[in-house]
Amino acid sequence: MRFLVLAGLLLAAIWMIRRSMRPASSGPSESADTAKLVQDPICKTYVPVDSAIQVNKQGKTHYFCSDRCAAAFQQTPD
Ligand SMILES: [Zn+2]
Repeated sequence: MRFLVLAGLLLAAIWMIRRSMRPASSGPSESADTAKLVQDPICKTYVPVDSAIQVNKQGKTHYFCSDRCAAAFQQTPD
């Protein structure tokens, strides 16, 4: 039991040392150049937020792959 606690502390220490050795801007998964994907609620396609068609409805922003999907969305009763 005590061994497990020590092993856990050791792993935590290694993790903290590794973390402190990294540059301030963290791992590649969080890099700014990775485009954020949003889902088109009409055709369920994922589109990069930069190139998506944005429609504001009831204070909420919705994203679409094309004008067609945006138009279809605006025609649906809500
Ligand atoms: Zn679409």
